[in-house]
Amino acid sequence: MILEKIKKHKMLLLVIATYGALFIFAPEKALASINNSAYYLLEMLQVLPIIFLITILIDAWVPKELITKKLGAKSGLAGNLFSILLGSLSAGPIYAAFPLSKLLLKKGASVTNIVIILSSWAVIKVPMLLNEVKFLGVNFMIVRWILTVIAIIIMGYLISIIVKKEDILSIESVSAYQPLVKINKQHCIGCGICARVYPEYFEMNDDKAIVKSSKVTIDNKETIKASIDDCPTDAITIDQKSPMKPM
Ligand code: SF4
Repeated sequence: MILEKIKKHKMLLLVIATYGALFIFAPEKALASINNSAYYLLEMLQVLPIIFLITILIDAWVPKELITKKLGAKSGLAGNLFSILLGSLSAGPIYAAFPLSKLLLKKGASVTNIVIILSSWAVIKVPMLLNEVKFLGVNFMIVRWILTVIAIIIMGYLISIIVKKEDILSIESVSAYQPLVKINKQHCIGCGICARVYPEYFEMNDDKAIVKSSKVTIDNKETIKASIDDCPTDAITIDQKSPMKPM
């Protein structure tokens, strides 16, 4: 139990331990670091509520089909250019882009376009370009913009080869909700109903069903419930410790 808690909060514990060590060996650095942290914490408290509000509004009002069409894997160059536009017209620090990016990813945006949005947000925001013109001239800004856009698009495609969307989305599922659904192998007769009807969540392996665990999240609770009802031998069960328990 204690070990589990330590594992869960390892980053926080690491930060506390680092501060502890700094206070002992370099107290002036520890104070400077706390001042910096306080500054960014205050900034985040001002920015993040607005971002969360925008995220909730997008989640509620923008249909998944629209995001998939405009920013999904099949949106092509038009999707890439739209992503550049979205990132460029943004405001606020880059960390504000992360909750939005996660939502867009969940609603159908491709990894490539998320990389493009984040990168555009970080380095070719319109207010930043205006400042660049002021200090370095319009020619510098145009050349940098063109080269940066090319680099961002290439990087987006390269990252999408290395990092799969399922890997990113499964981080939440694995840490918060696993194990959600179990297959009792002794009860499973290998009829394949679950894999045929719900191929997103189940597949067959050696004549037994297995759970595609990274796809099973609290969001598809209704489908999971239906699959439990459809199984002729009650082989599909919900883990008793799972947050999906009250169904
Ligand atoms: S529906 Fe039930 S019995 Fe049939 S393959 Fe799936 S888990 Fe096994």
